[in-house]
Amino acid sequence: MEGGNKIRIGVYVCHCGGNISDVVNVKKVVEEVRKEKDVVVARDFMFMCSEAGQKLIEDDIRSGKVNAVVVASCSPRLHEATFRAAITRAGGNPYMYYHVDIREECSWVHEDNKEEATNKAVRQIKAAIAYLRHAEPLSKIRVNCERSVLVIGGGIAGLRAALDLAESGLTVYLVERAPFLGGNAARIGRVKVFPYEKTAIDIVRELIERLRKMGNVAIYTNAEVENVSGYVGNFDVTIRVNPRYFRGKPNEYEIEELKKICPRKTRDEFSYGVSERTAIMLPPFNGAYPEIPAIDMALCDKCGLCTKVCNKVDLSQESQIIHLKVGAIVVATGFKPYKPEKGEYGYGLPGVVTLQELVGIINRYGDVVINGKRPRSIAFIYCVGSRQRREEGRKANEYCSRYCCIAALDVAVTIKEFLKGVTIYHVVRDVRSYGVNELLFEEASRQGQIIIKYDIDEGEPQVTYINGKPIVKVKDVLTEHMELELPVDLVVLVTGMEPSDGTADIAEKLKISRGTDGFLQEVHPNLGP
Ligand code: SF4
Ligand code: SF4
Ligand code: SF4
Repeated sequence: MEGGNKIRIGVYVCHCGGNISDVVNVKKVVEEVRKEKDVVVARDFMFMCSEAGQKLIEDDIRSGKVNAVVVASCSPRLHEATFRAAITRAGGNPYMYYHVDIREECSWVHEDNKEEATNKAVRQIKAAIAYLRHAEPLSKIRVNCERSVLVIGGGIAGLRAALDLAESGLTVYLVERAPFLGGNAARIGRVKVFPYEKTAIDIVRELIERLRKMGNVAIYTNAEVENVSGYVGNFDVTIRVNPRYFRGKPNEYEIEELKKICPRKTRDEFSYGVSERTAIMLPPFNGAYPEIPAIDMALCDKCGLCTKVCNKVDLSQESQIIHLKVGAIVVATGFKPYKPEKGEYGYGLPGVVTLQELVGIINRYGDVVINGKRPRSIAFIYCVGSRQRREEGRKANEYCSRYCCIAALDVAVTIKEFLKGVTIYHVVRDVRSYGVNELLFEEASRQGQIIIKYDIDEGEPQVTYINGKPIVKVKDVLTEHMELELPVDLVVLVTGMEPSDGTADIAEKLKISRGTDGFLQEVHPNLGP
């Protein structure tokens, strides 16, 4: 240690209620590490992060007993900063500190072998003690920070973040993988989003308009983050901007010709597959950004027909590489709707659609029309692709998507307003309409929509067919577990969220953790969700 000061290590081992001490023999750990050279104090405490726990460390430093600290507790992500702050308050050097994780990395994963868990905790702490013997007290240095931010994702969250950051005076680089801004929210289209009296597309359009007026925002669509290096305050980012194969915005006549000319067709992801698009992707809504089309090269066969009707097409364009320096990065990569497997609750058969496909139908036709007719009865089946049970050989999303109940109620209330006389059933496990969204549930009840609640232990609802018409079979908890058969014209599968494609890639590039559900991990489940 610097200045010839002899190192005097204090070790503090946390019980975390019983989270640690129910598995790790904390008393034994303390006795073992106390014997280590340079350890002057070894203590255990029920909750080290409590005020009383931190005070133990502070008192030992203030009294001069200790000048280096090991805390063995939970993950450093949770409390490393807490204990460094305690050391600083007591006048110690916060970098003469080592945080040992004996909860997530030990007691939680070795519940089945308490003895070995205890031995492992001892070894972890001994390693920390060895580290501190060689540690040097550090002091903070100041480095310049780039006053610019990279926002990854041009959906509603990314647009909102970019606008707020730009309005606060920072330079913003917004990068979106798709050819147009708007993400999932734009796809909701002309359905009003509760509790606003606006359609989703109005909200997206307004954000885009405001963003475009800002002089400190650069927008890259059809673009991907290739590489990130550096550190907080000074990141070097490489962006690949993929070609649109258009030199500029075609005029109205050219747009009409382009709509007709391309022979390569696929399902249009913007309408959730309800309509088709060609390889020439035109701006999907009024006010979309950019106003320049893009060619989907995965679909295009370079037949060249489009070049004959529009001189802005340039099939020779190549990707551009852009280097940026930013101080911070916001990841807003969003989600993709769960796609049911063929046959899952009758998916793939006539009269069974997902909630998103129903939204696509309303957007395209301004109405609900199934097989040429307006349905007189609709059953929404909830929790499709969420809260699934883990079964052998089947991927399961065990989490609640936390938005689909509300989205289904919102759509059902809207439908009930224009499809007079329609009977709507909600086949639910629970209705999780949080906060103000409870008003939607009330409105659905007021409209006479019927709630049927099933218990997963009694089996999932089944969708069968009689005379080409879907029938939902379900045991209803609310009518004393009565077996119901609901012949309906339309079954809507209320599908949840999955991490968007590319989440794994961006997490890898930015070294961000992902949870077991595949979504990006929050800083702290309670303190920074
Ligand atoms: Fe100890 Fe961490 Fe639990 Fe707090 S949260 S009691 S520091 S293990
Ligand atoms: Fe369509 Fe590609 Fe042919 Fe153009 S060159 S018309 S985009 S297939
Ligand atoms: Fe959660 Fe409701 Fe979605 Fe089910 S339908 S996953 S309860 S939000």
